Amino acid sequence: MRTFRKGGVHPQENKLAHHAPFEDFPLPKQAVLYATQHLGTPSVVIVEKGESLKTGQLIAKGEAFISANLHSPCTGTVAKVEPAPEMSGYKKMAITIDVQEEDVWEEGIDTSPEIDREIKLSSAEIIEKIKEKGVVGLGGACFPTHIKLMVPPGRKAEYCIINAAECEPYISVDNRIMLERTEEFLVGACILRTALGLSSVDIGVEHNKPEAIARLKEVAADFKGINIHTLRTKYPQGAEKQLIKAITNREVPAGKLPIDVGCVVDNVATALSVYEAVQKNKPLIVSYITYSGKSVAIPKNYRVRLGTPLSQIIEANGGLAANTGKVISGGPMMGKAITNLNAGITKGFSSLLQLETKEAKRFAPVNCIRCGKCVDACPMGLEAYLLAPLAENSRWEDAEQASVMSCIECGSCQFICPANRPLLDYIRLSKNKTGEMIRSRVLK
Ligand code: SF4
Ligand code: SF4
Repeated sequence: MRTFRKGGVHPQENKLAHHAPFEDFPLPKQAVLYATQHLGTPSVVIVEKGESLKTGQLIAKGEAFISANLHSPCTGTVAKVEPAPEMSGYKKMAITIDVQEEDVWEEGIDTSPEIDREIKLSSAEIIEKIKEKGVVGLGGACFPTHIKLMVPPGRKAEYCIINAAECEPYISVDNRIMLERTEEFLVGACILRTALGLSSVDIGVEHNKPEAIARLKEVAADFKGINIHTLRTKYPQGAEKQLIKAITNREVPAGKLPIDVGCVVDNVATALSVYEAVQKNKPLIVSYITYSGKSVAIPKNYRVRLGTPLSQIIEANGGLAANTGKVISGGPMMGKAITNLNAGITKGFSSLLQLETKEAKRFAPVNCIRCGKCVDACPMGLEAYLLAPLAENSRWEDAEQASVMSCIECGSCQFICPANRPLLDYIRLSKNKTGEMIRSRVLK
């Protein structure tokens, strides 16, 4: 079975919501939409307080080269345009909408359930449509998808890869999309390959999703040029470089991008959003999320409108259980703690996870015993036990020499460390500081 060669770990899968079909989460009373919910320059707000909005109406424009449009996820009235705290507590420019109970859709959006398989647009038209509809990468990075599809001069796309590994514990969004929206997802994957001028697309799925693999194979038999690859279940199989290695046997060198080795990678939810944008003219206004964790009574998968406050999901499920130790966005390996539960859901938000107190507990670190487990586990061939003390001692030039910028922040080193060293925390700090140092050197 295909996989990447170096490193990797096997955390408990805990896919508690694996068999839970998507439910539509009710519309919130108020929605909070941040002008930055993508990688790049914030979009420019084009609506004012008191303005009436239709569902799907453009509310903020991605004017810079790397930016993304933002659309109203509901019908209602603009209550405020002012900074509001996001999940980490930091304030960002936001549009708060008083939501009306019924949707009045912006003209031209097709809300019918009919599946449209015929791809009528050219590559340039597809890219323009994806840009117009505010589609960004939903695997976590939120990089604007239209930019990824614009292959730079001197490069050539040879592989269109769909990341369906979903290797983070607990998260089951991609699994459910592949099972419930199989045909639309596959059309979306075909649209992505058409945009790149390719005739085939490669989908990599970890082998712990046998139902999804079977369903994809069954439906893909009716399409041309879709290759389904079953990948070994090993974390971080879904990291871009590791997925490319598993599927193409190509290595993305340090400091380079997938396109430098002829690959463009998008994830499952992104492909579905591309389908909706291109075939249905529908902007990206929903998030597909897993609500799970051992302190959640009934783990679920939801389709939620952007801007819905996280607290409403928790309240609708009986509130935070007393044994909740931490609430995080994303999976337990790479996710980040949420400090503001009133924040609105953003594009790319894929999981609301409640860890039990004992699971969230951090054990006191002791001295490194030089066991080398962090080195064996690192998929990037780094030496975390050396990188961490460099960060502790602010030795950023040495950290650069030790390739800290190649770290993909997968957390495998910290997960495996028997001395409970907070390796990833130090490495994240080091990447920030070393990155600043490199940028200021370049700008001199
Ligand atoms: S977090 Fe970075 S250093 Fe640690 S295992 Fe992952 S890539 Fe290696
Ligand atoms: S795994 Fe932990 S104890 Fe072992 S070498 Fe790495 S930092 Fe040290």
